[in-house]
Amino acid sequence: MITLFLSLILFVTNNQTAEKNENVTKFELVKLPYSTDALEPVISKQTIEFHHGKHLQTYVNNLNNLIQGTKFENANLETIVKESDGAIFNNAGQILNHNLYFTQFSPNGGGKPSGKLAAAIDAAYGSFENFQKEFETAGAGLFGSGWVWLAKDKDGKLSITKEANAGNPLAKGLTPLLGFDVWEHAYYLDYQNRRADHLKELWKIVDWKVVEKRY
Ligand code: MN
Repeated sequence: MITLFLSLILFVTNNQTAEKNENVTKFELVKLPYSTDALEPVISKQTIEFHHGKHLQTYVNNLNNLIQGTKFENANLETIVKESDGAIFNNAGQILNHNLYFTQFSPNGGGKPSGKLAAAIDAAYGSFENFQKEFETAGAGLFGSGWVWLAKDKDGKLSITKEANAGNPLAKGLTPLLGFDVWEHAYYLDYQNRRADHLKELWKIVDWKVVEKRY
């Protein structure tokens, strides 16, 4: 009930903001496909509220301001990520990254992928368990802020890529399938310095149906 009420307030507030900035707002904050407390205890309500409502909202606001009057004013997000650099790239990359991140989770997630993606994972990593281990090792070993991604090339071949800061495999011509955020803002309230523990827990909420569709 409280969640519903808060969502309503957020909805009304967002709508007012959108109306006020009708002529300048281009990119919008992605809607969560679950309530802010739905991923507990893997990701707390507080972390979701800060991560989605504050950090991601800031990237959206920044990008909308930065692209005004540039050649990216009417470009879509993927184009901006592929062709920009500096502050525009950083904010666009982070929007793309977080849009993929927040929509790949579900309170009913977990388990294993199936179908073609499962077969591709087995072919590339031997087993799903071995893939998980390699993915966690890549994320835990990334120095500083960034992302670990599972990506595919144009032939469907899988790879795990480590990206610093706002990096996304898209900039290398790959298609991102699954991304774990290793910026401290993604886990510090819940796990403090225990990044590896956080990455291990994330498997419980991955919505493999969504990831399979991206493949
Ligand atoms: Mn983040």
